[in-house]
Amino acid sequence: MKRCLYCNAKTETPVVAKFENEKFFCCGEECLNKTLAFLEFAKRNTKYFLIGVIACPAVFMFGSLFPFSAGNNFIGSVLFCIGWSSVGLSLFAFPFATPQTSQLFGLRNAVRIVKILGIALIALTPLFWMMLRSG
Ligand SMILES: [Zn+2]
Repeated sequence: MKRCLYCNAKTETPVVAKFENEKFFCCGEECLNKTLAFLEFAKRNTKYFLIGVIACPAVFMFGSLFPFSAGNNFIGSVLFCIGWSSVGLSLFAFPFATPQTSQLFGLRNAVRIVKILGIALIALTPLFWMMLRSG
């Protein structure tokens, strides 16, 4: 019995599809279209995802060290919080889970999990701000 890549439901009559030579199964036409749309979206936006999750925080958080060491706590805190919230915003805007996670929970649930993680990270930003500003 196959599981639908999108909704994770077990299906006896799976629709077989291919994307970039990767074979996958869906329970029906609707899930298939949603999966293809998401895979296409992910393919187009992977570079922005990587910039937002890795490059941007690396630059801002590394950059925040200089104002901190120069005693400018305000600028340092601003840069750190920009770098941190960039990760959360990117996860929310581009909720790309690993293929393993998508297969385990289904694409729809994996997207939800990543979005919630993004919101959680964004919600932590004010906490960091207060910690940095009080220290
Ligand atoms: Zn389905």
